[in-house]
Amino acid sequence: MSKYDLLITGGRVLDPANDLDEVCDIAISDGYIEKVQKEIDPSFGKSVEDWTGNWIIPGFIDTHVHVGGPRSTWDPALGHQMLALAGTTTAIDFGCIPEQIPDGLLRKGAGLNFGGIMVAIPEITIPNDHPTHDQTRHIVSDVLKRGALGIKITGGYYPFSPEITSRIFSVCNEFRAYAGYHVGTKETGSRLDGLQEVPSIIGNGRLHVAHINAYCRGSILEPDEECKQALSLLSQYEDQLVSEVHQAIPNGTQGLCDKNGEVLSDVAKNCLKLKNYEMTADGIRQAIKDGYCSVMKQTGDTVGYIKGEDALNMFEELDTNCPLSFPVNLPSSAFNLTTAKKPDGNFIVDAVATDGGSIPRNIAIDSTMALVKFGALSPLEVAIKLSYNPSKMIGLKDRGHLSEGARADITVIDPQMGKAVASYVDGDPLLKDGNILKNGGRWLVTKTGEQEAITSGLDYEILDFNSSKLYSGYKD
Ligand SMILES: [Zn+2]
Repeated sequence: MSKYDLLITGGRVLDPANDLDEVCDIAISDGYIEKVQKEIDPSFGKSVEDWTGNWIIPGFIDTHVHVGGPRSTWDPALGHQMLALAGTTTAIDFGCIPEQIPDGLLRKGAGLNFGGIMVAIPEITIPNDHPTHDQTRHIVSDVLKRGALGIKITGGYYPFSPEITSRIFSVCNEFRAYAGYHVGTKETGSRLDGLQEVPSIIGNGRLHVAHINAYCRGSILEPDEECKQALSLLSQYEDQLVSEVHQAIPNGTQGLCDKNGEVLSDVAKNCLKLKNYEMTADGIRQAIKDGYCSVMKQTGDTVGYIKGEDALNMFEELDTNCPLSFPVNLPSSAFNLTTAKKPDGNFIVDAVATDGGSIPRNIAIDSTMALVKFGALSPLEVAIKLSYNPSKMIGLKDRGHLSEGARADITVIDPQMGKAVASYVDGDPLLKDGNILKNGGRWLVTKTGEQEAITSGLDYEILDFNSSKLYSGYKD
């Protein structure tokens, strides 16, 4: 007689929370882990899935993706499928409009656990670029009510003054809302100087600093020196900051220019400057002609890169308001930042994320596996970077490990290919044989957003950031 809904057998189970790295079987019932043990009798499983030769990690939690946000040239909700195909089981949209979360889950959902933080854009998502303290409190409580988990400031695109940046994050802290930061203010940039400004911005507060590698491209100092200084800062403020690195070489940015042809976004400007292009529409045109700059475009159900003449035509059609990509992220910086450890053996940068979703660079699993082949990470450390640490960052207590009673979210990785080949959410297959077997998904909200989640009709789950690493030990 079968005792379990599902048995996952034969795989090498990597579960850092339980210090387990062994070939084991996993018994699952009602969406939860019942048992991880060697050689469970297969007749006990209603169904048995054999993953001999593969690695089994707690489901990949991507703490930085883009499945929403003010994008006009493609449907950002395509990101759900793109993430699912990459082996993701849980993802946080790092800069959306709250209503895009249920909309995306309902239209294009691929069975993920999914939440998001709202991007703060003056006159678009918030009233202006100098909200008072009271207005800021209203903004944060409203965002949580609408079902987002917190707020992101994108200093590389919509920088605020240091004082307002500080105010927005301190109000997020007061509400125990998630606070995400792409560094840079009106006084610094999306570079090392923006990162070095973080301590003065947060005071005693808490912050998730996004994609540390993006500030170590050699804009100010040699890339190695920038990594060294970034790591030193993160170590010094380890109790207040959580962080992640993405490992894709192409970035994603915006070409929009003003009426004089000057590029507006600090990120795009930095990319042009790195290779001595003018920071103008003509500079972008030349960078496209030279093959340095690509354009991102939706084709069918996915988003990819186009180059050369096609890219140039799209840039003109969109009158510069065009999604661009430059190969500016340095593999050496991603390597340094991903593998650096504190004296106690813990990683300085908590996690590997993709900064992907509907941006076509969902390669966190592939690139982290490449670091194992290189000898820079152990197999257990793959699970630490992709699941265990991310679960702690956002306080998902019953994910990120495979203890009895944990949610049966699992990612299966083929160690030869270095790719995810299958995934399970709540013990149900999500990714199998290159196909996505689920739709919809589960909306991650705070307690304040519960009513909105109920109204949506979606399955939902309440996150309490008091139990996250971000707010661990935090007192007002
Ligand atoms: Zn991002």
